[in-house]
Order: sequence, then structure tokens, then C-alpha cells
Amino acid sequence: MYRTHTCGELRLDHQDQEVTLAGWVQRTRQFGGMTFVDLRDRYGITQLVFNDDTDADLCAKANDLGREFVIQATGKLMERTNKNPNLPTGDVELIVSDMKVLNASKTPPFTIEEESDGGDDIRMKYRYLDLRRPSVQRNLILRHNVAQEARRYLCEQHFMEIETPFLIKSTPEGARDFVVPSRMNEGQFYALPQSPQTFKQILMVAGYDKYFQIVRCFRDEDLRADRQPEFSQIDCEMAFVEQEDILNTFEGMLRHIVKYTRGYDIGEVERMSYNDAMEFYGSDKPDVRFGMKFVNLNEVSQNKGFKVFDDAELVVGIVAEGCAEYTRKQLDALTDWVKRPQIGAKGLVYVKCNADGTFKSSVDKFFDQDALKAWAEKAGAKAGDLMLVISGRTDKARKQMGELRLHMGKELGLRNPDEFKALWVLDFPLLEYDEEEDRYVSTHHPFTRPKAEHVAKMFEDPGGVLADAYDLTLNGNEIAGGSIRIHERDLQERIFELLGMSKEESEEKFGFLMGAFEYGAPPHGGIAFGFDRLCAILGGQESIRDFIAFPKNNSGRDVMIDAPSLIDEKQYEELYIRPVEVEKA
Ligand code: ASP
Repeated sequence: MYRTHTCGELRLDHQDQEVTLAGWVQRTRQFGGMTFVDLRDRYGITQLVFNDDTDADLCAKANDLGREFVIQATGKLMERTNKNPNLPTGDVELIVSDMKVLNASKTPPFTIEEESDGGDDIRMKYRYLDLRRPSVQRNLILRHNVAQEARRYLCEQHFMEIETPFLIKSTPEGARDFVVPSRMNEGQFYALPQSPQTFKQILMVAGYDKYFQIVRCFRDEDLRADRQPEFSQIDCEMAFVEQEDILNTFEGMLRHIVKYTRGYDIGEVERMSYNDAMEFYGSDKPDVRFGMKFVNLNEVSQNKGFKVFDDAELVVGIVAEGCAEYTRKQLDALTDWVKRPQIGAKGLVYVKCNADGTFKSSVDKFFDQDALKAWAEKAGAKAGDLMLVISGRTDKARKQMGELRLHMGKELGLRNPDEFKALWVLDFPLLEYDEEEDRYVSTHHPFTRPKAEHVAKMFEDPGGVLADAYDLTLNGNEIAGGSIRIHERDLQERIFELLGMSKEESEEKFGFLMGAFEYGAPPHGGIAFGFDRLCAILGGQESIRDFIAFPKNNSGRDVMIDAPSLIDEKQYEELYIRPVEVEKA
């Protein structure tokens, strides 16, 4: 037996027991004829004591231990005289009578502690060492718990976990496919699923009316900081449901997960239309942990001789409560912030609502006290508040103001990572215009159901068609998205036509799905949660990287195993593909 206990479980109750522990050497220190070793495993750290007086050889052996050596130690558990209140095992120590080195270790290239001194690259290369750090471990434990709680909730609701294939035909969801050459079918390729979308719909046709899967998805996109080429979804689908049923089921799931992993009650989940989200928060995933709603100032600010506003499609403001005392320097910093290329505003107008009832603005030349008072009234700004105003093309001004609102929320400490506020965003447009492709594309995906009352105008006014589509957001992040689906062949055909697909093309790509719709497809709908993202938010962090055991870096590489890589000559041949060098020659 390698161990009788873990390094995290011994307490005063175990006093005088003979125990054996196994783990990694966190550190050693010598002190007046004694050697202390902190022994670590994933459960915690226990202090080992070697006494030079009782066993000089053993103590010498302990002095030779390096960081991350794997050892086994047996001895008697004793109460510590010098207790460590910061460690759960801090009341006890193991007086070692026997110790065996199970394996030595090279000196690790970075410190394996809560905060590491290692940069990203080195931590990823030695991910097995990085994963020993308690902070990364906690993230993976949280991930495990979120998965278990999702399963528990869904199983209680009679969902069935069903696996769908990874080697499939491409199902476009707006990203590029990863493809896999087929050895047995010359010149043909599988695609890795961007999501199990079509399979879960087929499962509904097959009668498995409540499906879920915690499933890997693959999207070959240019990577942003919080994107991974392979990521996980909690993917769900239900038959015989309306949007309302889906919303209730899955806000229930979120409530359950947050309650059992974070001990937090998210309460009722508010709902907002996509249009309102854009109009009042400039975002389709507003952070509603705080207010600072947008106010349209067109009426009170235009046609007063200030050209910038007169030429603008939208003049929009927010109120930062209690910020009238902002200094010149602070206001300049805010102006610089919105002018950065990432935000792209031309400028920022401010109005200080002074405590004495007067106003001081950056546009005093154009607007007198009465005019500014009208703004403040319109925006509900009180004495002591600061109004910030941006103008321009509606979509741009909203986006810029949305960013500024988040920035102010952060500055003012209104975005507390220990508070969880969910929001449903509903009634998304079915389509959005893609300038590059010069055609309409699906906002979600082509299987999304247009609102019944909008089907008739689909072809005349594609941009005005709303869908039975919904996103679930948490603290300003999209954590899930889904829709009620089309389950009739003819409607699905018409949507493909609307998307500019020929009959042949849609038949070739999705004939199997439309064929299935002809054999008794029930009304159905579903949703998928971004599992990695959900874990990161519940862990109070922005990046999903440290919630994935083996993530890829920003260039899509796994630097530990060094993938992607070239393959054998023979493999190229078998797969009917040629290495680039051959092609070039
Ligand atoms: N398959 C969709 C996605 O990956 C989610 C859904 O509609 O259920 O975003």
C-alpha cells in the first residue's frame, strides 16, 4: 500500500496513529537539527519532520530531497507545537521513521505555487507541472463539479446523454471546419463537428425527446484570447416544447449549477429583447449587475448649433452616479480611452451635474444651463452625477457607449465577480447582413425558426424577420444560445433559399435532415452552453484557458506535445494528400 491517507486529510483526531503518505516535495527547510518537508498531493499539504538526533541517516536523506521529488513517508502523527492556521492540516505533523524516494525530479522550470513565476509559454510546455498548482487545480475541480451538477439536474429531468459522432460531414455554424482525410475513400474528407446540431435534431425525430451531451466541438477560427479551436458544450435538445419551456428548463439548470458549485442563488432570470439590449446597453449580452442604461439625447441635444451632434444619427448618454467630482485628468483619461482604436469614438462629451444645481460641460459653448438641465432631466441625472455622451452612427455609437459603460462599471466597482446575474436575451433577428459576402447569413444557424408572424414577409424584408432564438448571458458573457427549430421540410427549404443556396446545394448538404423532417419530425428546440466559459465565469476569471486541462495557445498549438506537426511520408500517400513541399516543387 503506497499510502494510508492523503496529504490533505490528517487532523488532530489522527494523533498517535502510524500513517503513510505519498506525494511531491513542495519544499524542505532545516532548522536546528530538524528537517521539515512540505509534502503535497492534490488534496493538500502535510508537514513531515525528520530528526537528526533520532535517525541521522534518514535526516541526511531528507536533506538531499529536491523540489518535486516523489516520496513515501511513514511515521507517527503528532500535534504540532508551532501550529499553522493557514493550512487545514496545520495542527499536525508527521514524525517520519521511514522514507523512500519513489522518483527523483529535475528542478522545475518555474515555481509550483498558487501564483507561478512562469510565463504562459513555459507553463504550457510543462503543463503537467502547471497542473500541480493549487490555483489551476481548483479550476479543474470546479469544472468537474459543474459537469456533475449539470448531469445531475438534467438526469433528474429525464434527459438522456447520447453521444454523436466526431467524424461527420460539415455542418456550418459560421466558422471553418477542421477536416480529416479519409484513407478508405480517396480524396474525401470528414469534418469535425462545430456542434452536434443536426444530430441532436435527428434524435428528436427519432423520439429521444430530451437529449444532452457534454461534448467537444471544433471550430477553425482565428483565435482570440478566450477562444479555443476545440471547446466543450453542454448541448441539449427537447421535443414538444415551446420557447417558454426551454427558458424555464435551462434557467433552472443554471440556477442549480450556480447554487451547488458556488452556493449562490441567481434568483429569477430577467428577460430582455435583443432590440432593447442593443438600444439600452449597446450589446447583445449586457452586464446587468449594474444599471447605467443608455439615454437617447437626440431630442434635447440636436438642432442647437453643435454640428457634431446635428450630424449624428444618435446622441447617447449614460449617467455615472456620484462622479461629478471627476478631475480634468480623469475626464481626459476617459476621453483617451474611448478614442483608442479598439473603441474608436471620435470624442467624449461630459456634463457634470454639480452639487449646487449648476452644470459644467465640455460643450458649454453650445449649450447653456437650461439646455444642460434638459439633458440631465431626460437622463435622470441628479446633482453630483456625471453624464457621458457619445454621438455618431447608431450602431457605432451604441457599441462605443457599451464599452464605456462596462469600463465605468468596472472603475466604479459595480462588476463584482462574486455576484452572478443572468439574463435571457430574446427575439434575435433571424438573419444579419454580411457585408463581405454581400448576402444575408443566419444570426444563429440555418435551422432556427423564424417567428410565425414573420414567415410571410421573409423574402420582402429579410432583415426585419425575428426568430424564436435566445441567448442566456451571465455577468455580461454569452454562456448559452439556442432556438426553436424548423421541423418542416418546406420551411427549411425556403430558409436555405433565403440564404442564397441553390436547391442542389441544400439537398447535397442537408438532404439527410430535410429527409428526416418528412418522417414525423416533432416540434423541437434546444440550447447549448459554452461549458469552458461557464466554468471560467463561475471561477471569477476571464480566460477559459486555465479551466481546460490541456489548452492550445494563441496560435492553436499544443506546445507540450508539439502539435500540429508533419506526418510520415507514408501517411500522406495513404491519405491521398501531398505535403506542401511536394506541391511547390
Ligand atoms: N448548436 C448551437 C451552437 O453551437 C446551439 C443550439 O442552437 O443549440 O451555438
